[in-house]
Amino acid sequence: GFKCGIVGLPNVGKSTLFNALTRTAAAQAANFPFCTIEPNVGEVSVPDERIETLAKIAGSKEVIPTRLTFVDIAGLVRGASKGEGLGNQFLANIREVDAIAHVLRCFEDDDITHVEGRIDPTADAETIETEMMIADLESIERRVQNLQRKLKGGDREAAQQARLLEAAKAALDAGRPARSVAVAEEDEKAWRMLQLLTAKPVLYVCNVAEADAAEGNALSAKVESLAAAEGAGCVVISAAIEEEIAQLEPDEREMFLAEMGLQEAGLDRLIRAGYELLGLVTYFTCGPKETRAWTIQKGWTAPKAAGVIHGDFEKGFIRAETIAYDDYVALGGEQKARESGRLRAEGKAYVVADGDVMHFLFNR
Ligand code: GDP
Repeated sequence: GFKCGIVGLPNVGKSTLFNALTRTAAAQAANFPFCTIEPNVGEVSVPDERIETLAKIAGSKEVIPTRLTFVDIAGLVRGASKGEGLGNQFLANIREVDAIAHVLRCFEDDDITHVEGRIDPTADAETIETEMMIADLESIERRVQNLQRKLKGGDREAAQQARLLEAAKAALDAGRPARSVAVAEEDEKAWRMLQLLTAKPVLYVCNVAEADAAEGNALSAKVESLAAAEGAGCVVISAAIEEEIAQLEPDEREMFLAEMGLQEAGLDRLIRAGYELLGLVTYFTCGPKETRAWTIQKGWTAPKAAGVIHGDFEKGFIRAETIAYDDYVALGGEQKARESGRLRAEGKAYVVADGDVMHFLFNR
């Protein structure tokens, strides 16, 4: 599955947010499965209204949303790249996630110590980014050294890696994160394999006081401009409120949100923003037994998408029967879509679109 790491300085609200995320999912109906894999790893359901709409049309007994994994990566402090705090171990944890949710403290509270002694979320963002940039530069140096022998032997993969490492180093030396490097399509896989921390997409999470949950505040506005300048994502939430909301029953939740002037729980926005940041899309399988959402990466072809359900679907792929979400809903289900000629037979090269209702035919 796809993983989003929660990072940030101590005392910014990471654990509060992580607990809210995991509890919300747990508090949902029993058929919204949630599991804690490890104390700091949780899977959450991705909220998507389309799944209920499809289930109603198909008369499905069960709905199964797709899921996203969040990892609480505590312990990053100034000097982490030099082994301060739990330092390098945490940087290693970040290597394994696909995207980074960076929590920034945008609330004032004299009772809660700020490790740097002042509330300044954009400076905090820079502190953490700097640690990750230093860690990247060190890992680049090691890799370049390890490549020397292969390069002399004329290894083409090594040459590609060396070229990409050089591009990353040039960006970092100029004070820019590795994600600022424009990577050609044929280099994308090799680029990801480098696992550079600052190459991962970033979503800033502004943790504001309860009173600012609906509108944000001056601090979160600063972070929003930073995010816009960097092309990063940004959501404003109050972790403390989210923790309260997470413990409410669904009907109480609606009332509470309305009182706070909120359209929906901040966590739902956060989960969806994480999903978008990762470049993920959803397709559905839909029948009387269940309607289920599946996660794939944008651009995946039908066989690869089928492989998410089962490896055999991908290996023995023959073709897919596909109905666009809007057609399925407008026409009122599979049978009517078939009769209207809106059920398409698609082959191996078909790129699955967000919302597609899929049925795979395969050889066993
Ligand atoms: P972490 O170290 O980043 O995981 O931070 P925690 O989630 O443990 O939060 C640190 C402290 O800040 C705890 O005492 C929280 O209750 C408190 N806290 C978290 N979010 C908020 C908030 O939005 N407002 C206020 N006033 N306190 C908060």
